[in-house]
Amino acid sequence: MSDFAPRVFSGVQPTGNLHLGNYLGAIRKFVALQESQDCIYCVVDLHSITAQLVHEDLKSQIRSITAAFLAAGIDPKRHIVFNQSRVSGHAELAWIFNCVARIGWMNRMTQFKEKAGKDRENASLGLLAYPSLMAADILLYRATHVPVGDDQKQHLELTRDIAIKFNNDFSERIAEAGLGTEIAVGEETVNGYFPITEPLIGGEATRVMSLKDGAKKMSKSDPSDLSRINLTDDAEQIARKIKKAKTDPDALPSEPKGLEGRPEADNLVGIFAALAEKTKADVLSEFGGRQFSEFKPVLADLAVEKLSPINGEMRRLIDDPGHIDAVLKDGGERAGAIAEKTMRDVKDIVGFLR
Ligand code: ATP
Ligand code: MG
Repeated sequence: MSDFAPRVFSGVQPTGNLHLGNYLGAIRKFVALQESQDCIYCVVDLHSITAQLVHEDLKSQIRSITAAFLAAGIDPKRHIVFNQSRVSGHAELAWIFNCVARIGWMNRMTQFKEKAGKDRENASLGLLAYPSLMAADILLYRATHVPVGDDQKQHLELTRDIAIKFNNDFSERIAEAGLGTEIAVGEETVNGYFPITEPLIGGEATRVMSLKDGAKKMSKSDPSDLSRINLTDDAEQIARKIKKAKTDPDALPSEPKGLEGRPEADNLVGIFAALAEKTKADVLSEFGGRQFSEFKPVLADLAVEKLSPINGEMRRLIDDPGHIDAVLKDGGERAGAIAEKTMRDVKDIVGFLR
């Protein structure tokens, strides 16, 4: 609990086709939260150049992620939707956070290890510093809650560490400038400038796995299109991908305990549960004992039913780039106004002359 006004922030990178994992792990939650919270949703284009510098179609990728936000039901008038590179505060605050965070913290990040692969020396410095930019995205708006998939949990812990260290290192300056807010840290109450952000990770699909490999998460940047269900896939493609999804030869168990050691089965049951807004236990009480050959077509029909309205609306929006660009411009202006105030405060706290 703290005295910070509740605010939700989250982002999606324009790195390829949005998939079912992005939808169930993140975007669907964005939509639900906007009913009760003040929300800022960002197409994080600065992040998209960390793993691959040159993108042929970056502009259309940015528009397509925006179209997905809108098609899923995010209201850009009541909330803020924009692309990160429009607001210079993200990069400015990230620089300050690069000096707050320690190299050891970054070296421990699983996403860096996975994305850098074996040739770590040759990865971009941006890929290593990615979590510091992510902390800046969130804290530039002093957001209190961040809906994300399970893969981002570690980065959110690091965001909290950065906020704690900044609040500590500058505690006197924050108090002198009268810029502190009460934050409860365990039993104690401290006065800090940045909130200690809470991740919002929950439900049956916080980590949707690749359809080809139950040990790998479904990702936009996976070279195999068969590994994921894209939000733009049509009914036939969805059915084909689910049919080809890797499974084991056994029938479905009748209880979730029976999914242990069966990652592919667990994944498909989790996807079904999340799409149907049920628990895995509910799904298994209905399908326990049945073969995948029976389960997969029902899952495909459900996925088509849930995704096709979004798919149709996305296509319509993508055909009207002028509208999307206007949404991003307006959102960027409103985000920029909040960011400017934070950057003024931060410059005063750090002690720069302005
Ligand atoms: P990339 O491969 O380029 O990193 P990505 O698919 O991981 O792309 P991001 O833009 O990095 O997508 O993440 C956007 C949001 O989607 C984040 O909140 C992330 O946690 C969530 N997310 C990504 N993949 C999954 C997944 N497989 N299951 C659930 N949530 C996911
Ligand atoms: Mg990712």
